[in-house]
Amino acid sequence: GVPERGNAELLDLRKRYLNPTLSVSYREPLKIVRGAGAWLYDQHGEAYLDMVNNVCHVGHCHPRVVAAGQAQMARLNTNTRYLHDNIVEYAMRLVATLPAPLSVVFLTNSGTEANDLALRLARAHTGKRGALVLDHAYHGHSPSMVELSPYKFNGKGGEGQVVHVGVVDMPDVYQGAFRDPSIAGRQYADLLPAEIAGLRERGFEPAVFYCESLLGCGGQIVLPDGYLREAYATVRAAGGVCLADEVQVGFGRAGDHFWAFERQGVAPDILTVGKPIGNGHPIGAVVTTPEIAASFVTGMEYFNTFGGNPVSCAIALAVLDVIHEEGLQENARVVGGLLMDGLRELQHRHECIGDVRGCGLFIGAELVSDPVARTPDRVKARQVVEAMKARHVLLSTEGPADNVLKIKPPVVFGRRDAGEFLEKLDAVLGGR
Ligand code: PMP
Repeated sequence: GVPERGNAELLDLRKRYLNPTLSVSYREPLKIVRGAGAWLYDQHGEAYLDMVNNVCHVGHCHPRVVAAGQAQMARLNTNTRYLHDNIVEYAMRLVATLPAPLSVVFLTNSGTEANDLALRLARAHTGKRGALVLDHAYHGHSPSMVELSPYKFNGKGGEGQVVHVGVVDMPDVYQGAFRDPSIAGRQYADLLPAEIAGLRERGFEPAVFYCESLLGCGGQIVLPDGYLREAYATVRAAGGVCLADEVQVGFGRAGDHFWAFERQGVAPDILTVGKPIGNGHPIGAVVTTPEIAASFVTGMEYFNTFGGNPVSCAIALAVLDVIHEEGLQENARVVGGLLMDGLRELQHRHECIGDVRGCGLFIGAELVSDPVARTPDRVKARQVVEAMKARHVLLSTEGPADNVLKIKPPVVFGRRDAGEFLEKLDAVLGGR
């Protein structure tokens, strides 16, 4: 087997042999050796409540998902150029969760691959090359997706905005320019025409608008009502197609709906998914309309060696079964509601909690040093994450100022887990 090494040695070897840009969480990194449900365990058997992992969606190492993968691995794993039941069954099951026009499936190995392929689809369909994105968005790590990710190209080491990309402000009703939720959806969507005009001045027509249905890297932002309806109408009128990136938020996490775009009363032209789709196994997908899929038929084949293999599809099928049979979308709605209520109660007693927002098990608590000026408090957020870790609760931070406590646990997260988190957060913030 693999030799067991201590944390210091692992850290040292990692520095020597691995990608030097890869960070580790926490001042004193954890060595995690096992997971079950919403819990992670270190090499000493110490348990940590995982509120970070939105990939192991139905719970770490869910026995049903593990068994499905093991059984299919022992039988066959090969590419998609043979007929196989799993890929067809999965495509049908995924499509059944979606509004009618979204009915053609492409399987990939990651969210980046899905978003990359989606850009090709949008360009093939529209014959145009420009793209519109939201500020602070992240859509992937490939060269084309870094160009569509202000989170990367405007961040450390980034090379700035390229000419074929237009960036609009996030519809952030807490920190942004427009703060009245009843009209902010339209106000933020009204920023798109100027960006489209900018693209045109630079010689590019808009092919596609990429937007997460709830904003992850942007800081757990819930889109104001009407935002996507207005934005989609504007982009479509300009000749582009609309993409919903649900790599982080799909598959019932939103609680009230299976797909977060449904909360906005719209349907995208292209949906991309990843992370939770395989509960940790690498698989992603693009789902689009027959018309857009037909435009991609140019004579060049899209073939992806691992994409849609029988093992990935067996695992993804098991994930859908578990979400359904264990009522995990409903669990996300109920437990997410308890967390939101609890956080709002803490907000009354702790001035540093400036804003609580989210839906289902996708929640943000924005920490500020001055609740009136809404001054982001990154240092406090860091401290809270470390203090919670000391109490065996794992959290992360997010947002442009990195001051938003990001809550996105596996959707098996229970009522007791929520109670434990709230009690410990209260203590960390200074108690009553
Ligand atoms: N889109 C969004 C919204 C994401 O959060 C991520 C991953 N953080 C990606 C795309 C890229 O997915 P992957 O890491 O699987 O390539």
